Amino acid sequence: MKQKLIAGNWKMNGGLAANEALLHDVRQGLAHALASKHAQVAVCVPAVYLSQVQQMVAGSGIDLGAQDVSIHAQGAYTGEISAAMLKDFAVRYAIVGHSERRQYHGETDAQVALKAQQALSAGVTPIVCVGETLAEREAGKTEEVVKRQLAAVIHANGHCISEIVVAYEPVWAIGTGQTASPEEAQAVHAVLRGQLKAATEHSDRVHILYGGSMNAANAVELLAQPDIDGGLIGGAALKAADFLTIISAAAH
Ligand code: PEP
Repeated sequence: MKQKLIAGNWKMNGGLAANEALLHDVRQGLAHALASKHAQVAVCVPAVYLSQVQQMVAGSGIDLGAQDVSIHAQGAYTGEISAAMLKDFAVRYAIVGHSERRQYHGETDAQVALKAQQALSAGVTPIVCVGETLAEREAGKTEEVVKRQLAAVIHANGHCISEIVVAYEPVWAIGTGQTASPEEAQAVHAVLRGQLKAATEHSDRVHILYGGSMNAANAVELLAQPDIDGGLIGGAALKAADFLTIISAAAH
């Protein structure tokens, strides 16, 4: 069984002092949380703090992640950050297509696919977020929406699709305290696994994370589902004790 992956998404939170305090506590508690078992851990931080966090996680077993990446490799794109630049800071993961970027920055499925492509070509693993809104769920369109979102990434990256991470994040569960039930989440994860299976013989390698108000109280049940390979954690990743409890729930 592959190790589960717990990735924190700090979103636009933190500061030099707060990052230092949080990572100090996470590092201190990590060995105890893992208790000689194994899980992969990452933190996806605001780009301006990549250098600081790179130094702070060095040698800790915690991987570094970014929250976005440009669709371009380089050039006149003011404000953008390329995948190669992320690689300069030993970034292992880049979140692409987070619902907050789809919603507030108008990111399309095609752009998300290009971002995944840029990341992969620089050796950065894209964490591809998919998920339905409440209206789409209520209209019975969950499966159609997540399959469409993932299909765009598969279409553009078919040859190396087993190198991605997928995060199922129902939009209605992000930051709301409302979590998909383990059964609801598992049902969508199974659909995504089936889609990956049709695209690559190595689909079992792909981590499919659940994200959306995963916390210290509900992590065990969610992570026990057969197709939930870890979590993308927002709010609970900002509190060391909660993040460590989730890591502990993922360790096996
Ligand atoms: C997220 O932003 O990816 C997320 C899952 O947030 P939260 O855990 O706060 O719902």
